[in-house]
Parts: sequence; structure tokens; C-alpha cells
Amino acid sequence: MSFTIAIDGPAAAGKGTISRAVAEHYGFAHLDTGLLYRAVGRRVLDGTDPEAAARALVADDLDGAALRTPEVAQAASKVAVIPEVRAALVDFQRAFARRAGGAVLDGRDIGTVICPDAEAKLFVTASPEVRARRRLAELVARGIDTGYEAVLADVRERDARDMGRADAPLRPAQDAAMLDTSALDIAAAVAEAIRLIDRQIAQKQEETR
Ligand code: C5P
Repeated sequence: MSFTIAIDGPAAAGKGTISRAVAEHYGFAHLDTGLLYRAVGRRVLDGTDPEAAARALVADDLDGAALRTPEVAQAASKVAVIPEVRAALVDFQRAFARRAGGAVLDGRDIGTVICPDAEAKLFVTASPEVRARRRLAELVARGIDTGYEAVLADVRERDARDMGRADAPLRPAQDAAMLDTSALDIAAAVAEAIRLIDRQIAQKQEETR
């Protein structure tokens, strides 16, 4: 049986950590859909045409720390504006969402465009300052040389591009539960995510009774 949990939100709000923990909690598979756009962005930085890169994408391209750099993140958010790139990535995401045994997908448009019928939906946010501090700590821990102001500018620039694009802009689905992680540590954010998802599942069961 398939069961889909959609987790959307802006960069560095905690989606990735929460999604991995939620997938583990329910025993579901997890797909970080940002990696698809990052892999396309990486190819474009190397000179490939964006649409051709999106069409040629294979699962093996989604691995590696090379995709988790600020340069690739910016390239990803630029290719993500192109409707043909987004269209080329839809089938892979929907097939993953429908796999037997349940799936958690995290991204920007999972609850709105990719899986509008997902059984549970979360929209994870945090203030830009909190997100920039978290992302900075992550980058510094990986030995990437950058500073708070640069990371904050990157977060704001990607927010504006992700929310302002015409095709599949970043916004909460009308039936998503909102989770602001600004004042929560990881354990509290994960516990709250699971509580909100359990509540949505219970509501759905109540409706179909
Ligand atoms: O989530 P992550 O920061 O890895 O995503 C990188 C970029 O990919 C985002 O800034 C966004 O532009 C794009 N993206 C998207 N739709 C998704 C996931 C990511 O447009 N579902």
C-alpha cells in the first residue's frame, strides 16, 4: 500500500533532518527532492543544457557532498525556475511517492504540485536569521569557508527566487500543517512533526469512517 508524507518549506528550515527522522519513525523511504535540482544545477555549472541535464538524471547522480555547496544550491534554484526542468523531474518524484511501503518526500512543491493528494502534509519554516545560523554551522562543520552575512544573503536570495517563480512557487498547501522550528531544537521539532502527522492521519481516518 502506498502512503505519502509531503514536507515542504524554505532552505535550511529543518526539512531534511525532520524528513529523515519522520521516515525512520514510520519505516518509510525518504527522497530529498532538492537533490534532483542540485544534481541538475551541478551539470549546468559544468556546461550542460538545463533541460537535457534534467532528462538525463539518474538515481546515482543524487549522491555526494559535492551537491551540498552554496554554489550548487544557487545553481539549483536557478534551474528550478525553468518549467521544462520541473516537468522532466515530475515522474521520478511521483513514482517514488507511490512506492509500496510508504514514502516521505521533502522539497518546495510536494504538497502543492507533485503530491496534492498526499495523506499528510507539513510546511516547515523558521526565521531567515535562524536558518542562516543553522546553515552556517553546517557549512563550517564541513570545512566550507563562509560567513553569516554571506549565508543570510544566500538564504534570502533563494527564498525570493523560490517564492517568486511562476511555476510551482514555494507556498504552503492549503491543507498543510504549519511547523515553525525557530525556537525548537531537533528533538522537539521532530516530536512536533510526528504529532502533527499523526493528527492528520487520525482526521483522515475519522472522515472516511
Ligand atoms: O532543498 P534544497 O535547498 O536542497 O533545494 C535546492 C533548490 O532546489 C531550492 O532552492 C529550490 O529552488 C529547488 N527545489 C525546488 N523544488 C523542490 C526542491 C528543491 O524548486 N521540490
